[in-house]
Amino acid sequence: SGRWAKAEAILRELEENCGAHTAKLRQVADAMTVEMHAGLASEGGSKLKMLISYVDNLPTGDEKGLFYALDLGGTNFRVMRVQLGGKESMIKQEFEEVSIPPHLMVGSSHELFDFIAAALAKFVATEGEGFHLPAGRQREIGFTFSFPVRQLSLASGTLIKWTKGFLIEDAVGEDVVGELTKAMERVGLDMRVTALVNDTVGTLAGGRYDNPDVVAAVILGTGTNAAYVERAHAIPKWQGLLPKSGEMVINMEWGNFRSSHLPLTEYDQSLDAESLNPGEQIFEKIISGMYLGEIVRRVLCKMAEEADFFGNDIPPKLKIPFILRTPDMSAMHHDTSSDLKVVGSKLKDILEVPNSSLKMRKMIVELCDIVASRGARLAAAGILGILKKLGRDTVKEGEKQKSVIALDGGLFEHYTKFRNCMESTLNELLGEVTETVIVKHSNDGSGIGAALLAASHSQYL
Ligand code: ADP
Ligand code: MG
Repeated sequence: SGRWAKAEAILRELEENCGAHTAKLRQVADAMTVEMHAGLASEGGSKLKMLISYVDNLPTGDEKGLFYALDLGGTNFRVMRVQLGGKESMIKQEFEEVSIPPHLMVGSSHELFDFIAAALAKFVATEGEGFHLPAGRQREIGFTFSFPVRQLSLASGTLIKWTKGFLIEDAVGEDVVGELTKAMERVGLDMRVTALVNDTVGTLAGGRYDNPDVVAAVILGTGTNAAYVERAHAIPKWQGLLPKSGEMVINMEWGNFRSSHLPLTEYDQSLDAESLNPGEQIFEKIISGMYLGEIVRRVLCKMAEEADFFGNDIPPKLKIPFILRTPDMSAMHHDTSSDLKVVGSKLKDILEVPNSSLKMRKMIVELCDIVASRGARLAAAGILGILKKLGRDTVKEGEKQKSVIALDGGLFEHYTKFRNCMESTLNELLGEVTETVIVKHSNDGSGIGAALLAASHSQYL
């Protein structure tokens, strides 16, 4: 009928506009490399901030002692403690995950940090057997903070802006370590932050601890970002002394990448315009977990409005922003049952659409595929951009140097079709170099990485 034809046309148009064929991905990768150069050349030289992390030495495996880590970056925060035994041995590790009440994400700095410090204090109070702090010492912690920060040193930095659903005005421009330290004092917790790291930098450090060939880390979670090891002399904007190692980890903040080559649609435009941070984080808004389900919802809205996709009426729930979460989209996308019963039950439970035909369900799976594939393919193009910057996108004569990319984040971990598409696209882009480039899941590397960096920058060394 005409109804299906119209819905089909909307889908085909979306597919066309989301198209990320290989040639386009190469343009995106080239643009990424160009922006990387520009961001390294001068402060404000690019949408890519290319932030200096002050991490010029990655973990060696010799780190020893009890260290804590705190990871704040999305919907949950994690606290952990590790007893490091040196010689690449981790004696014991414990962690706890606490969800952040949504009102704290848009409240005041004081309230957010008080909440975090209180949870941390509670966790420290449960420290038991297997963890040893030498007498007279202060506990030390690595703080993983996954928002753009202008670092002043390894253990301090001011917040540039919030992303991913956080908006706490009075924290912008403040030293986040100072904020955390004051909150810890308020709750009577005696602890010192010795490293402030982005989650990408933590993942790179944690990944390197396991594998010396790790050269970059990418996060695909609520948001997306990447960090990599740059040669210090290739950072013109770096005014300080060149580090002994000759290297510096750069937090790209690639979520803010933008290029005329990105395949953007009307749905992306409206999502962006109505977001907490319009005009910002465009790459993130078409790739990451916070947004993929929301893009699908917006397309479904159009199909409902213009093609009566759900019948004459538009399901009221469909009008609610962010009601369709990426994990639900992923569940529908992975539905292998012949009658697509998972899709049916998601439609019923989330959108209150009680009856859906198989035809309708099939189209929704296809919609999920279009949106997820675009994100996955663009993420692969981003990785190619980094490899190009490092000169690791071609095979050098007689060289068998491996390049390992540490990947982490809930989207990468749980959205199998996204992950597979990203990995196969990277292979497609790399051609014969595929054999030397390895994508490795670094499970919770960022927490361990932060603890390792806290250890290697301990006040007691
Ligand atoms: P964060 O990025 O907030 O630090 P995670 O790395 O754990 O946290 O990623 C959480 C994100 O991963 C969620 O916001 C969601 O978008 C995505 N995610 C979690 N589970 C799934 C899933 N089963 N399928 C698809 N995406 C998922
Ligand atoms: Mg995280």
